[in-house]
Amino acid sequence: MKFADLGLSDELLQAVQDAGYEEPTPIQAEAIPQVQMMRDLIAIAQTGTGKTASFVLPMIDVLANGRRRALMPRSLILEPTRELAMQVAENFEKYGKNHDLKMALLIGGVQMGDQVKALNEGVDVLIATPGRLMDLFERGKILLNGCDLLVIDEADRMLDMGFIPDIEFICEKLPTQRQTLLFSATMPPPIKKLADKFLTNPKQIEVARAATANENIAQFKVEISPRKKKQALKYLLDVDNVQTAIIFANRKTTVRDLNKDLQKSGFKSGEIHGDMDQASRIAELDLFKKGEVNILVASDVAARGLDIKGVSHVFNYDTPWHPDDYVHRIGRTGRAGAKGRAITLVTPEDKEALANVEKLTKMKVPPFDWSSVSPADEERSDPEPREERKEKPKRTRRKKDEAKPEEKAKPPPRGKKAEVKPPKDKQERKPRRDDNDPPGKPGEWNGPMPGFLDVGFD
Ligand code: AMP
Repeated sequence: MKFADLGLSDELLQAVQDAGYEEPTPIQAEAIPQVQMMRDLIAIAQTGTGKTASFVLPMIDVLANGRRRALMPRSLILEPTRELAMQVAENFEKYGKNHDLKMALLIGGVQMGDQVKALNEGVDVLIATPGRLMDLFERGKILLNGCDLLVIDEADRMLDMGFIPDIEFICEKLPTQRQTLLFSATMPPPIKKLADKFLTNPKQIEVARAATANENIAQFKVEISPRKKKQALKYLLDVDNVQTAIIFANRKTTVRDLNKDLQKSGFKSGEIHGDMDQASRIAELDLFKKGEVNILVASDVAARGLDIKGVSHVFNYDTPWHPDDYVHRIGRTGRAGAKGRAITLVTPEDKEALANVEKLTKMKVPPFDWSSVSPADEERSDPEPREERKEKPKRTRRKKDEAKPEEKAKPPPRGKKAEVKPPKDKQERKPRRDDNDPPGKPGEWNGPMPGFLDVGFD
């Protein structure tokens, strides 16, 4: 199917072409006609499937006709987090660039003045997190009775974050004659109940779970003892051709500690978690998007749905407690047709959590294949390219750690195992804190499996 077969306007087709999309994704092919027919819709789809464009594109054409009125947005998109709201706003700008539509973004953590001004001037689409919207509504700064198109995005996340009562309140303030589109990765009973209450005769569509169907993501587990996790992670960051990585941890404190530790070891890393204010979150994300840091240590709340191009790796420093989070986390890589790798560190305590992941995804996560990396000193500067490595690996560590060119390890001749001599300046380096854990005999990392993998697992 082509975008042109979907009956979108020429202006929109141009914007889609400029975005570089060749054909609609399955969710777009199914959802766009429903939105155009003004039907209510339940779409079970997650980020990475192209779901945002599946509602933004037809909305732009629907909104192209009609007039804006002060304080009365014509349509409303609810997002669980500020980052997601900002991402949808970026999508609106990208696809709506050939249309004269006004948008306002209502998110917490930023000044209200400009948002109120935009509302006063009248907007076609309002993209909001429930908290800030409720706040403005209660202050009488916004009227919802002119809003006849509602999108509830990431509904299951809204549930996790306790937003369902807010959404019910908002739905009750909207006109009863309206179109409602609900997107959710899963359909737990409270979301089903919400849909039954607020949607009218919805068409239900479901696209394959991106993570389970996404053959572009190679998934692995590394069974490890808790005290050796940092060491294992740093080793993997060095040897697995990491270009850019998001590292997920289950707790905010772990996010902070791990980032500090990585920075101390010379990695270019940043952090993002729910305790940070909006400005710092945006700043950290910007550094990551611009490539000034290539490792982002993240908590689930902050990173859900983030759409960042070219993330080569996702690491689960902790196996997530909720199997759904696993699917969301690894979906940060392998996006839009690119290849990605997702590696999960699994301690004996995580066994049950991993079993739940495997049950949900209906696949076994295989052990990491150590023979696929060129084992070497973890700080070697020039790993031998593997066959699938197209580009030279981007450096993971900071410049100050770089070996001089003449000290770089030469790739071994084909078929020969790398005989690794650490660069001179590394030979007598001071042990790092986690080096105190015996890494195995010095030569051991030349073998197929690094020495820190000494955990007896089963
Ligand atoms: P989403 O599921 O909305 O988070 O989108 C995931 C990614 O897919 C985004 O980077 C979009 O820009 C991209 N995308 C959306 N639609 C298409 C398409 N038809 N072809 C290629 N990429 C797309």
